Amino acid sequence: MPEAATTEFWRDLKPIANSFKPHALPEHYVKDPANSDERYFVPISETVSSRPIWISPQRNMWADILRASSAGLVNRHYHPHQVFAYTISGKWGYLEHDWTATAGDFVYESPGEGHTLVAYESDEPMKVFFVVSGPLIWLDEAGNGVAHYDVYDYIAAARTHYAANGIGADYVDTLFR
Ligand code: FE
Repeated sequence: MPEAATTEFWRDLKPIANSFKPHALPEHYVKDPANSDERYFVPISETVSSRPIWISPQRNMWADILRASSAGLVNRHYHPHQVFAYTISGKWGYLEHDWTATAGDFVYESPGEGHTLVAYESDEPMKVFFVVSGPLIWLDEAGNGVAHYDVYDYIAAARTHYAANGIGADYVDTLFR
């Protein structure tokens, strides 16, 4: 039961008795991750960090808050799979597109797109909620794939970061679904 209802019309409704099917995993609630302790943000590039909020190793997917406190860059890469983005604050875009995203803006990137993510100087940090299907394929200047980054690289980076700053590497396990 969440917070008790007072005058809401649904106040007498009963919750479903057995809301989870056998073997279903529990829901995962994260309080205001975009404004959390900076230690939860894992460095992704020199200028951009990422707070994982949901990780699915089996799907090679994750959801995160991507953050840049000033101008930021995630170097050119290619996505064989889709990406969803919703902008919380700041200003960002891709060098390859003609829009500039600010608070409230949504982006869907279809499978098969290469891009270069840039965050602008802004009054507020860039914070974007992403749902990413891995891998990212890092590209060289000629657009050739030179390395990859997938959920397992993301997990490893988060474990290393959290082990070093006192949050603890095991925190990452709580994000798996
Ligand atoms: Fe991308």
